[in-house]
Amino acid sequence: MATLYRSTRDASAHSISSSQAVLQGISPDGGLFVPVDFPKLDLDLSQLPSLSYQGLAYKILQPFFSDFTEDELRSCINSAYGSNFTSEEITPVSYHAGNIYLELFHGPTIAFKDVALQLLPYLLITSAKKNNSNLKNVILTATSGDTGKAAMAGFADVENTQIIVFYPKYGVSPIQEKQMLTQTGKNVYVVGITGNFDNAQTNVKQIFNNSTLTDELLKSGYQFSSANSINIGRLLPQIVYYFYAYGRLLADNKIKLGDNVNFSVPTGNFGDILAGFFAKKLGLPINKLLCASNENNVLTEFFKTGTYNKKRDFKVTNSPSMDILVSSNLERLLFYATNGNAALVAEWMNQLEKEGEYTVDPDTLKFLQTHFYASSASQTDTKNEIKQVFTESNYAIDPHTAVASFVTREYKESTADSCPTVTVSTASPYKFPQTVLAALGVDNATGDLDDVQKLVDLIKLPLPKTVANLFEAKQLHDTVIEPDEMENYVKELLI
Ligand SMILES: *Cc1c(COP(=O)(O)O)cnc(C)c1O
Repeated sequence: MATLYRSTRDASAHSISSSQAVLQGISPDGGLFVPVDFPKLDLDLSQLPSLSYQGLAYKILQPFFSDFTEDELRSCINSAYGSNFTSEEITPVSYHAGNIYLELFHGPTIAFKDVALQLLPYLLITSAKKNNSNLKNVILTATSGDTGKAAMAGFADVENTQIIVFYPKYGVSPIQEKQMLTQTGKNVYVVGITGNFDNAQTNVKQIFNNSTLTDELLKSGYQFSSANSINIGRLLPQIVYYFYAYGRLLADNKIKLGDNVNFSVPTGNFGDILAGFFAKKLGLPINKLLCASNENNVLTEFFKTGTYNKKRDFKVTNSPSMDILVSSNLERLLFYATNGNAALVAEWMNQLEKEGEYTVDPDTLKFLQTHFYASSASQTDTKNEIKQVFTESNYAIDPHTAVASFVTREYKESTADSCPTVTVSTASPYKFPQTVLAALGVDNATGDLDDVQKLVDLIKLPLPKTVANLFEAKQLHDTVIEPDEMENYVKELLI
């Protein structure tokens, strides 16, 4: 059966195909695309231990991308998940002193966004061909540090495509910035803005929804799409590793078939953890999804009280990729929590935009609390967690992973839940060496690339080639603009 997609805000439920949803990225009404009927999987969980990552990815993604032929989808998957990952398993699971980590950082930019962004360009090109589109794709992306690089790595020199990345000039780590500013490719544009990630994301959404601009661009042969997790082509590939992890736990005799597990997910835009919720909807035995936030803990409050309130100071923390106050993908969860009440979702989103807050009804809150637990870690908690894990097991984790690892520890101590909890590990410690060094008691971190070598000496993990290469890489980009100049920048570049 074909899986069609509709907007979370459209009560009339107008539907489009999966390839059209990938091309459009976001619905013109500002809503996000979700399947009209949630697909069912042709997969028996007992098969999990014997499936390769690629084989599993096909089984899970096929019903979501039902207008792709088998050859098309397999070819996308096989091109995306190969030697560009330094682990043959793509997303290996590792065990350290009673903790379980699902490592999602073995791709080219050493953070989890590679898992989806290595695949998205293939999905997009295939989608364009299927729809006989001769338009050039313009990938507009707001990044809190990791999406930008991962998207550029995926889209650099891809035919018929331009990619423009906006990042908060003063809100990313030095390694993240260096990674972005040294990106090669004739079709890539990297622009620092003098605001924060929320400014970048809001303005990108506004550009998408500016019909005068999109019409003008259409005349010049361009169509916008998104590499953020608002795009189903970015969101759905993230379901795969939840199943993969379950298969590893089975293979390693940590659980029996059918046992429940929890996943603790370092959360910003709510894309990663929403993919976990989709995995649960597809039948993966998940008890709780632990939503782990940093000091920008809007979500912690929301899951406890039912009020989402973004009117607060934006904090720049030591887990910068999670410095977000408006988590886009929560909208998709609300759609399911309200049984698909698009009018209500639209009303809440409207309130959030106009008044800066909304409150869900008790039934919705109950649904959310059934599936999710939420907590947060301060910057000090984060450093202490890095230190404690390293002391216990000689395993170095990055600050984002540490936020989730802290919440896992707190959850185990404060509840009677004895299900194994997998902490989702979203970045390599080499991406945030300054914070990791400080946490481990090294006090001469400088904030530049030299920290990487100090960290190699201390944690003795092999340095990924992509980081080693940064030492010689030339800076190729230096544009910095104000947030309200973003639209003009795009116009001038393209028209
Ligand atoms: C983007 C990111 C996150 C947050 O993921 P969301 O899908 O935005 O919730 C967590 N950790 C790292 C390292 C990231 O890059």
